[in-house]
Amino acid sequence: MTFTLAIVGRPNVGKSTLFNRLVGKKLALVDDQPGVTRDLREGAARLGDLRFVVIDSAGLEIAEDDSLQGRMRRLTERAVDEADICLFVIDARAGVTAADEYFADILRRRAKHVIVAANKAEGRAGESGAMEAYALGLGEPLRISAEHGEGMDDLYRALLPLS
Ligand code: GDP
Ligand code: MG
Repeated sequence: MTFTLAIVGRPNVGKSTLFNRLVGKKLALVDDQPGVTRDLREGAARLGDLRFVVIDSAGLEIAEDDSLQGRMRRLTERAVDEADICLFVIDARAGVTAADEYFADILRRRAKHVIVAANKAEGRAGESGAMEAYALGLGEPLRISAEHGEGMDDLYRALLPLS
């Protein structure tokens, strides 16, 4: 049995960086032309002995018109509906923002399983951000660094019982 993991969250928290790491090649390259709305991006992921489908909601970064919020919501809802598990990424250095709260609400209402990841937490950075993420009430946040590959063992352990 395999499963589908959707990486969701506001722009710039590191979703595509994590997607690339899980897929193991540069599939989520920032090669988008301005004004072109990309769709959800899927890849075959591996983490330890787990094999699964991962979704990156890539269109969000380049949506630039006034329908940004609606488009973000629609794309996120589609990713959530297609996924067995949602990995909700926040920026541990920025802490929890109003946009994060907005995504948390969607996930609370709609997601089957949510794992919260406080990204950019390499070194000792982001400890307070991870604490804030705990207050979202979506479970204990993982502290990860998508860029540096930290916390991937914790992600594995979080996914294993749901796989
Ligand atoms: P997305 O918009 O959520 O897909 O975010 P991206 O993956 O495009 O990353 C946004 C920015 O955050 C880029 O400059 C990344 O290099 C940076 N970033 C991603 N992951 C990390 C991380 O673990 N630590 C740090 N310090 N920066 C990161
Ligand atoms: Mg991205």
